[in-house]
Amino acid sequence: MSAVLVVGSANADLVVPVERRPAGGETVLGGDTTVSPGGKGANTAAAAGRLGADVALLGAVGDDAHGRLLRESLTAAGAGTQYLRTVDRPTGIAYITVTPDGENSILVSPGANSALEPADLTDDVFDGVRVLVTSLEVPLPTVERAVRQARSKGVRVLLNLSPAAELSGETLAALDVLLVNEHEAGYLLAEEDADPRRLLDLGPRAAVVTRGAAGAVVVEDGKSTTVESPRVEAVDTTGAGDAFAGALAASLARGADLVEAARLAVRVAAVSVTRHGAQPSYPTAAELE
Ligand code: ATP
Repeated sequence: MSAVLVVGSANADLVVPVERRPAGGETVLGGDTTVSPGGKGANTAAAAGRLGADVALLGAVGDDAHGRLLRESLTAAGAGTQYLRTVDRPTGIAYITVTPDGENSILVSPGANSALEPADLTDDVFDGVRVLVTSLEVPLPTVERAVRQARSKGVRVLLNLSPAAELSGETLAALDVLLVNEHEAGYLLAEEDADPRRLLDLGPRAAVVTRGAAGAVVVEDGKSTTVESPRVEAVDTTGAGDAFAGALAASLARGADLVEAARLAVRVAAVSVTRHGAQPSYPTAAELE
């Protein structure tokens, strides 16, 4: 039983620094590879776990070293792995090259994440759950089933539309909170810099748009509230959106309202960008004090 259930991906992030990326047919030598636990689902669960939330990840990894790394990292963060299946596919991998200007280029091989099926969402996984958080690096039918089931059980539903994908009207209407960054909001509204209040026309009861260093905008009951981010020296923004999602869910599960939850989430995400990596950069509740 967990108050927060995350349905989402678990990937090993393989990060290689490169002077430049190879063109087709070319070989380029890069720097040393670092391997770290990642994937939007695992990051979100780890962020909530570090804050002391009672959280579990429902996902899939392979029977390999990367799968073990992810399990260990979740456990260390205090996130439950009782619904993390081991399947007969390699653990998902994100191949990330980083150039000296700090730009990332990412190729994801979903592997085991592709094996997460709607049938994995048995009714008992929602027992005691107050908030479901899901994101889109796992098959869409699984996400849609999770949203439907959570809704029917009175569980609050938060969907992080990342990576951007088309959702059915039925799924959008079942969301309590739609979480998007500015780019994803532009994708949904087919317009950059559109009024975030228009997101509610798509069906969700509330929406949160993250805006990088500018913080976030919460849209609820037809009005929008800007939540400023603390000013920090950012060194690596990898996984900042997932830190935000995990903190938002942890706070909602404790009974906070959405603006209050977003105030905590900007603080957590701001700390995460001052440190390297995704999961290793997430603060504990004590560190936030
Ligand atoms: P990412 O892809 O890097 O995980 P994202 O594109 O999903 O992030 P952003 O809006 O860039 O989403 O960042 C999410 C949150 O992280 C922001 O709402 C903010 O709270 C925090 N954040 C990101 N960049 C910065 C920054 N430079 N300074 C302070 N906070 C930041």
